[in-house]
Amino acid sequence: MNYGYLAYPDIPEHAVHLLPLGAVEPHGPHAPLVTDTLISIGVCHRAAAKLEGEIPVLVLPPVHYGVTRYASAFPGVVSISEDTLRRLVTEIAEAVGPLVLVNNHFEPGQVETLRETGLPMLDLTRRAQAERLTDEFRSGSCHAGRYETSLVLADRPELVHTDRMQVLTERHVDMPAAIREGRTNFLAMGMDEAYCGAPAESSADEGRETFETLTDMLVELIREVAA
Ligand SMILES: [Zn+2]
Repeated sequence: MNYGYLAYPDIPEHAVHLLPLGAVEPHGPHAPLVTDTLISIGVCHRAAAKLEGEIPVLVLPPVHYGVTRYASAFPGVVSISEDTLRRLVTEIAEAVGPLVLVNNHFEPGQVETLRETGLPMLDLTRRAQAERLTDEFRSGSCHAGRYETSLVLADRPELVHTDRMQVLTERHVDMPAAIREGRTNFLAMGMDEAYCGAPAESSADEGRETFETLTDMLVELIREVAA
């Protein structure tokens, strides 16, 4: 199910392709730059495994780079433009056939660009999806806090600096509200260490539970696309 690891004679004729998307941007002093992509990859593989024997699903090599300007005051950001993202995603879609976008980077420039492609997408910023997620996620404090850090702890614990994570104080920032008020960088939002929420409360158990929910959502979407 890992597209990039197949040899060409083994590519199934009819499959739904999943494209994991994210960003290369700081996620607090404790979590990896590619946190968002790691979450997308984790959901994609779980969904593909769940649908084994029912629908052939292939997970494409991920697109780590995204539109990420809000974190520009910090080292580690590698942003691409909306145009580049749009072209990359649409050209990949043209090459492979049925494709579902799986995105976990929620900066509006990223989300809107992906929506504009018209491709099916697991879009957690839609109310119906967000309502199924954790309290912290729904509060809008959804960058490198308990929600995202728990997901990384579930799959790639070796990439989280738990010693740093444990001493981070909770920072409630309603990011969607801040963005509506015109505050479009982390510092203006009060995120002087590139995180909000409560990373110290993260756990691998919560991450596994959230992955279950995300996987259910993606499986539902893949079934719709395959139908
Ligand atoms: Zn993130």
